[in-house]
Amino acid sequence: MISDVLNPQELKKVDPVFGQLSFDNHEQVVFCNDKDTGLKAIIGIHNTTLGPALGGTRMWNYNNEWEALNDVLRLSRGMTFKSAITGLNLGGGKAVIIGDAKTQKTPELMTRFAEFVHSLGGKYITAEDVGMETADMDLVRETTPYVTGISEAKGGAGNPSPITAYGVFMGLKAATKYQFGTDQLEGKKVFVQGIGHVGETLVKHLTEEGAQVTIVDINQDRLLEVAKTYGATIYTGDNMYQEAMDIYAPCALGATINDATINQIQAKVIAGAANNQLAEEQKHGRILREKGIVYAPDFLINAGGIINVYAELEGYGKDEIIRKTENIYNTTLDILNKAENEDITTHQAALKMAQDRIETRKKENKK
Ligand code: NAD
Repeated sequence: MISDVLNPQELKKVDPVFGQLSFDNHEQVVFCNDKDTGLKAIIGIHNTTLGPALGGTRMWNYNNEWEALNDVLRLSRGMTFKSAITGLNLGGGKAVIIGDAKTQKTPELMTRFAEFVHSLGGKYITAEDVGMETADMDLVRETTPYVTGISEAKGGAGNPSPITAYGVFMGLKAATKYQFGTDQLEGKKVFVQGIGHVGETLVKHLTEEGAQVTIVDINQDRLLEVAKTYGATIYTGDNMYQEAMDIYAPCALGATINDATINQIQAKVIAGAANNQLAEEQKHGRILREKGIVYAPDFLINAGGIINVYAELEGYGKDEIIRKTENIYNTTLDILNKAENEDITTHQAALKMAQDRIETRKKENKK
């Protein structure tokens, strides 16, 4: 028997896809390979009960393929719940391209990727994510209609990041109200980790409301630029987690709330844009709850971007985009109250609400 001859590490590799924890009942996982352009991509389609699986394409220099697979599975699953809780008729999907976006992203590679997206016949619709720009989506659009996040000049809703930032700001304010009894940010100490497309606009909203914003990034040029533009303070220490702060806004990459950081975190509220902030959803969600730290679930408050690109499919305009994004404030408060009433974590409360919507639709579809 195979289990007699393989050690646990090798056993893990026996079930590389269906057996992965992050697989979590994905409907389909597509591996895309093209020797000529060097394309190596994975498309994850988690669930299409509510509609086609929509989610961005991330290009990242992963250390290995396991890391890329795990990332795409976690991200596409998150998209299912994000669209469900936001009330959109979309399923969850995501794609990753393995490689350095700065040096390996060529028009030929993106076009080949677009052909793979097209081959799925609309079951998966792509958009931009880390390592992608609106111009890349415009290029993909030349090959397939199954893309959103294209430029306004080409009939799209444009860059989703400012709307994502506005939604995060709404969720952050709601969580602040829940924790401190007021959503006024005047004088609140906020750390924004990652001041890229979303983080920078979040800094803008926060400083406009009088928050004392400290910024953290690995890109020194960005730090200087954003500090100068908005009067934010650059963090110069070597461990931001243990700094005294009211609010921590993770806007870089995921899993920053993990075994190493969770007992150091001084913030009373965590609300940011990054996907999959909790390294282990149940365990770290529970510890935050025990510590009295209010965690605004990432997939709920970073839904502005998907609201923006959904407008391209449904044909609604900017006013409706803003209205739907501002509603993140109310949904966040509902979730925080639900968690308290049901004695569960805020992440569990958000998941439950999303899953209920999917189950209800599943029953309706069967009728
Ligand atoms: P981005 O690439 O523009 O910005 C990320 C920033 O984080 C960069 O400035 C980078 O230098 C910095 N960074 C990377 N590693 C870091 C580290 N270890 N410490 C500190 N800073 C670090 O990405 P973005 O579009 O602003 O997205 C940020 C996060 O929000 C991502 O997790 C993304 O998946 C998520 N998100 C984005 C959108 C959107 O509309 N762009 C929507 C939903 C979720």
